[in-house]
Amino acid sequence: MCVGSGSVIASREVPQSCPYCSKLISNFYNLKKHIATMHQSPAFYHACAHCSAAFRTAEYLRKHLVNVHKYPVKKKK
Ligand SMILES: [Zn+2]
Ligand SMILES: [Zn+2]
Repeated sequence: MCVGSGSVIASREVPQSCPYCSKLISNFYNLKKHIATMHQSPAFYHACAHCSAAFRTAEYLRKHLVNVHKYPVKKKK
């Protein structure tokens, strides 16, 4: 086993960060799957106005706004 040879091909097997939401995905193939399911449904595409994150549903976006950007949580009466 040779580790650290700097092979370009090996980069497909290392964790990849999603260009849309910066989430770390275990490998290149799962990243493509993640992008297809999470970010490639235009009808359900909700992009964050504060950063480059994007979500499939408004609910995911709302959670992101609360967790990352400290939006106040609106409580139902
Ligand atoms: Zn993503
Ligand atoms: Zn954001």
